[in-house]
Amino acid sequence: NTFAEIDLGEALNQNIHRCKYVKPTPVQRHAIPISLAGRDLMACAQTGSGKTAAFCFPIISGIMKMQGQSAQRPLRGARTVYPLALILSPTRELSMQIHEEARKFSYQTGVKVVVAYGGAPINQQLRELERGVDILVATPGRLVDLLERARVSLQMVKYLALDEADRMLDMGFEPQIRKIVEQNDMPLPGARQTMLFSATFPKEIQRLASDFLFNYVFLAV
Ligand code: AMP
Repeated sequence: NTFAEIDLGEALNQNIHRCKYVKPTPVQRHAIPISLAGRDLMACAQTGSGKTAAFCFPIISGIMKMQGQSAQRPLRGARTVYPLALILSPTRELSMQIHEEARKFSYQTGVKVVVAYGGAPINQQLRELERGVDILVATPGRLVDLLERARVSLQMVKYLALDEADRMLDMGFEPQIRKIVEQNDMPLPGARQTMLFSATFPKEIQRLASDFLFNYVFLAV
């Protein structure tokens, strides 16, 4: 019933301690072990439930474990970057919040987090991306722009998290989301690990879950 009992890795556990998180919230207590076990996840959770950490911890922990291996990154364009994890969120504000938290959690882990959202000049974000990215936090519209410019490739994405998926659909982002996920079509089911978070679970979200997730665990807190 403490974070120390979950095998997240030394550096991440220290950062959790620095953030003064002692006890996992209910969504964290259930979601983190499911994700660490490699399963896809559909989680119904509200804002304030601690869902950001619930998807960030397994992603950071997983990337730390990948750091030892030398992954062959395909050469698409000299300026194309290949994040290992993608976190999609509906708004600029939420993306900024997730980015800020994810940076605290990844302090001194060697895991690099970059954020890209619309409604702001793209050049600064392009410069940030060029310096390297492991975890990309993005809004759907801006990410499609980056994909079309071939500045980001999703070929290497091993972890995909969709936060507030119901809100993204309400905002009309379904075509962009589908386009984004298609770019990471893995030949084997389960090659990518996917976490879908939504406050509600209507038909449209159920459809996304069956299209994007493989043999998933359903969690409602
Ligand atoms: P979220 O639902 O991810 O937006 O988190 C809501 C708030 O709870 C944020 O301010 C987090 O920093 C905080 N929080 C998340 N998990 C924990 C935890 N296990 N212990 C204490 N605070 C937490």
